[in-house]
Amino acid sequence: MTKGLLIVLSGPSGVGKGTVCSVLRHKQSDLVYSVSATTRKPRQGEIDGINYFFKSREQFQDMIARDALLEYAEYVGNYYGTPRDFVERTLESGKDIILEIEVKGALMVKEKFPEGVFIFLVPPSLDELKQRITGRGTENADVIDHRMSVAVEEMSLIRYYDYAVVNDQVDTAAHRIQSIIVAEHCRKDRFIAEIQTMQEASEKA
Ligand code: 5GP
Repeated sequence: MTKGLLIVLSGPSGVGKGTVCSVLRHKQSDLVYSVSATTRKPRQGEIDGINYFFKSREQFQDMIARDALLEYAEYVGNYYGTPRDFVERTLESGKDIILEIEVKGALMVKEKFPEGVFIFLVPPSLDELKQRITGRGTENADVIDHRMSVAVEEMSLIRYYDYAVVNDQVDTAAHRIQSIIVAEHCRKDRFIAEIQTMQEASEKA
């Protein structure tokens, strides 16, 4: 059976990865979502096992020690990581899976799964990104400046990705990602191994 696609949606903090992902969830029900583990405390309305697997630092460190995570990163004082088993089982079953993760973790995944599809979500402009980071709430000017300089650094990692999708309109961005998924399924490389197996089988017969 052909394996599913491993799709990584990443990009700088504040670009709207979560929002685009939730729109995709509604538009494309056959796409499987990876639920991350985190040491961050649940926000209001977040449910364990649906939004995240909420873990203590000890539990998270145990997952790292057991090699149970495909990737992990520390982000603003908390750990975030992708449980490995679920991703591998989903791909083996032929289904596509999407990981919505920050950039350091995405690069770790790329080392292990170079055949994955790496999509970088881009803000329409740096001004717009600053507005989104500022609009989130109560951070003071220093924190906003720090987040902006981190975001600019994160933007420079775009060169490691396969696709750049501008998040000007959430629906349009989600539609572009769906188009990428369709195109990736049409790649000839994905059929070559299958055809070779068929040829070998017919030579033996
Ligand atoms: P939040 O705390 O807002 O839910 O997420 C903070 C950041 O962590 C976001 O950029 C989100 O994409 C990222 N993130 C969520 N899950 C994972 C994960 O499993 N691995 C990594 N590396 N980043 C994650």
